[in-house]
Amino acid sequence: MAKSLLRSPTKLCVERAVNAHDCQANSRHRIRGGDMRLKAFTDPRSPDHYCADCAKKIIRGDIERLGLLLSEIEA
Ligand SMILES: [Zn+2]
Repeated sequence: MAKSLLRSPTKLCVERAVNAHDCQANSRHRIRGGDMRLKAFTDPRSPDHYCADCAKKIIRGDIERLGLLLSEIEA
């Protein structure tokens, strides 16, 4: 079984917000109940939640970083 850096889905997942709250990357972003959000356990005891726009930026940035690591290890 291959290991993943992203661990189990409970460490990082996309889910629908039940209640409205602020995005934790930008307090001016409001996540409404029913909106999709990214949940990330950066701190194992308390997850951070990001709105879809911030989540896309974070995920794209991480894909880019993983791509760089991949090209470094393949060099
Ligand atoms: Zn946001």
